[in-house]
Amino acid sequence: MSAAVQHETEQEQWDAVVVGARVAGAPTAMLLARAGHRVLLVDRAAFPSDTISTHLVHPTGVAALERWGLLDRLVATGCPPIDTYRIDFDVAVLSGRPSAAEGTGRTAYGPRRIVLDNLLVEAAREAGVTVRESWTVDEIVRSGERVIGVRGHHRGGEPTFESARVVIGADGKNSVVHKAVQAPEYDTRPALTAGYYAYWSGLPIDEFRVYVREHRAIVVVPTHDNQKLVLVGWPRREMAQNRSRVEETYMAAVNSVPELAGLMAGAHRETRIIGHGDTRNAMRVPFGPGWALVGDAGYIKDPATAQGISDAFRDAELLSAALDHSWSSGVPWQAAMSDYQRLRDGRAKPMLDFTCMLAPMDPLPAFVRFLFRSMQGNQPAIDRFLGGFAGTVPLSEVFHPLNTLGIVGSRVRRGLRQPRAAWRAAT
Ligand SMILES: Cc1cc2nc3c(=O)[nH]c(=O)nc-3n(C[C@H](O)[C@H](O)[C@H](O)COP(=O)(O)OP(=O)(O)OC[C@H]3O[C@@H](n4cnc5c(N)ncnc54)[C@H](O)[C@@H]3O)c2cc1C
Repeated sequence: MSAAVQHETEQEQWDAVVVGARVAGAPTAMLLARAGHRVLLVDRAAFPSDTISTHLVHPTGVAALERWGLLDRLVATGCPPIDTYRIDFDVAVLSGRPSAAEGTGRTAYGPRRIVLDNLLVEAAREAGVTVRESWTVDEIVRSGERVIGVRGHHRGGEPTFESARVVIGADGKNSVVHKAVQAPEYDTRPALTAGYYAYWSGLPIDEFRVYVREHRAIVVVPTHDNQKLVLVGWPRREMAQNRSRVEETYMAAVNSVPELAGLMAGAHRETRIIGHGDTRNAMRVPFGPGWALVGDAGYIKDPATAQGISDAFRDAELLSAALDHSWSSGVPWQAAMSDYQRLRDGRAKPMLDFTCMLAPMDPLPAFVRFLFRSMQGNQPAIDRFLGGFAGTVPLSEVFHPLNTLGIVGSRVRRGLRQPRAAWRAAT
């Protein structure tokens, strides 16, 4: 029997088939199952499984883990808390604790993905999700315009068809679901950075630390086993010339910052240097007849501000709530899913613009440099800015004229007698 005929004659096997079982797919599946829906979660990987990504989970993402009852499990894996962010922009060092938003704390974590993703898959399984690992989706099956299921296979096995009310693409930036449904993209920008990282032991840095220099950024994230992930980023346009000398370029950047070079002198590199540089920036329409997108499949952005995991958690909650409203409360599909897109975009768009401003590592705009300088010694302003970076404070608040003028005014009151000279010095 063809898939289309089966759709017309039988109830779907699943409410949702979720393709991709990492930070977007596993929580989406878990939350749908907790709401009483029948969910199949598939991934071509077998977990525990690693992926290319550094690890910062901002306090907003940590709050999601806590809401889901999973934070204690993460802490039990020995992942160290990250209580301080320190961003050294060269013209100013902004160090403090991101301001808390309602319902979030101020602590971040940097779990290895091999640990975090496995923990999420296990939580989905416990919630009643049927999980198929090493199962690859080969085809998105439609009946007319509508997606009605997927065809896929276990490694070495025969293809099978799985029908669903909705097929959810949580399968990353090269999503097969997106390719099949051709969801329109908007707010697109090309890939801006390349990032390469390795794990180090013996590096005495216990905070999230970033050194921003012209055309280089060096990022340190404390993670499991008392190791520190050290990433060096450079503009995407340098990728071809640096591809054959990654280690040299990586170490040259580290050594260009004397403070960091001193700290790294006593550290030991535990792994080879890995990375990549092909992450474009784009938002995609995240739903259509019988399908939805979540995580990178629906919204890809440069990793410069480390938002991907926390965004995926937020969107897993928004999408699962929208689907549950539609299925359980009778809210029309179009209305529920339009809300999902509107809420996602409203929260993500300002951060996408901010990320794309920082990502090329060009000199910052003059007013931003002046603002950062003016923040020196003003801890509440620094914490608010770090909250903007961490996603706990809306960026519209951080860069609102009332806030920025207040910061400059307070700097003047604190003894900056000649703001014009300071502006010239900063710019
Ligand atoms: C260098 C780098 C550093 C980063 N650093 C950070 C950071 O510090 N903090 C942060 O929050 N984010 C960071 N990110 C971004 C973050 O890694 C991503 O946003 C996040 O992994 C997206 O999760 P996802 O679940 O949407 O997709 P993915 O993690 O890409 O997972 C997709 C899953 O789908 C599966 N899949 C794909 N196709 C199929 C198929 N046909 N059949 C079955 N399964 C399939 C894959 O096997 C995979 O497991 C970084 C990214 C990069 C590249």
